[in-house]
Amino acid sequence: MRGHSENSAKGFRALDAHCHLSDSAFDFMRDELYGELISQNITGLVLAGTVPADWVKQKNLDPPPPLRIARVFGIHPWFVDTLDDHELHSALDTLKQTIEHCQGLGEIGLDYFRAKTENQRTTQKKWFEAQLDLAKGLDYPLVLHVVKAHHESVPTLRRHGKSYRGLIHSYWAHVDVAKSYIDMGFLLSVPPRIMKEDPHQILARIDPEHIVFETDTPFQNALGETMQPTLIHEFLENIAHLRGEPVVETAARQERLLSELFPILKEL
Ligand SMILES: [Zn+2]
Repeated sequence: MRGHSENSAKGFRALDAHCHLSDSAFDFMRDELYGELISQNITGLVLAGTVPADWVKQKNLDPPPPLRIARVFGIHPWFVDTLDDHELHSALDTLKQTIEHCQGLGEIGLDYFRAKTENQRTTQKKWFEAQLDLAKGLDYPLVLHVVKAHHESVPTLRRHGKSYRGLIHSYWAHVDVAKSYIDMGFLLSVPPRIMKEDPHQILARIDPEHIVFETDTPFQNALGETMQPTLIHEFLENIAHLRGEPVVETAARQERLLSELFPILKEL
C-alpha cells in the first residue's frame, strides 16, 4: 500500500479514528512518534481504552500541539475474560471516578471469537451492559469492539433504547448490519485491510458520510510495514484514489466526522 503521491504528506491534515498511543509498544519512542506525526501533518488521534492501567497512561499523555488526542476509557471485552468479578467491579468504579478525564467510552463490546464458552459470553454481556448503563447518564460517544457478536450487540443496543453516537471499531461485517448501526447513530470505523479485501463491499455500498478510517496500531498488522498511526496518511490516500476524489476531500470529511464526535479534536 504505497502512497499514490509521496510528496503530499504535508498537503493535508489527517486524523486517525482509532489507535493505542498509550500501548507499551510506543513507550520508548513516544516523543519521536509525536515529532513524526506532527511532521506528517497528522493532527488528531482517537485513542482506545483497555484496562484501568491504560486509562492512567492515556491521562498522562501530553502530546505537543498541534497534535490533539481524544482519550477513550473502557473495559475492553478481551480483558473482561482475564479479570475476576471483584477486579471488574473495581474497574467499573475506577471508570466512574475517572470518566471526566476522557471524551468517550470504549473499547466496550462483545468478542465471541475470543469468548468461546457460554459462561465467558455471559460475563462479557454483563460488563458490556454495565458500561452501556454508565453511558446513559453521559453524553459521550462510544467506541464499540464487536467481533462475531453483532447478532447480540445490535439488539442489546436497541434494548438500551438511547440514541447513541460513536464508532464501530474495525468494522468487518455485512452491509445490513452496518445499516443497523448507522440507523442507531454510529459511524463505521474501518481498518486498512479493507484495501486488500472488502468482502461485504462496505466501501462501495455505504455512504462515505458514515465511514471513518483507523489504523488500530500497534495491534492490527494492517498492510505493509508501518505499525504506527502515521499509516493513516497512506490509508486516506488509497481511499481517495479508490473513490476517485481528491485526498483533501477524503481527509476533510474524516476530520469533520471525527471532530463532530470528539470536539476536542477540532483545530484550534
Ligand atoms: Zn483497538
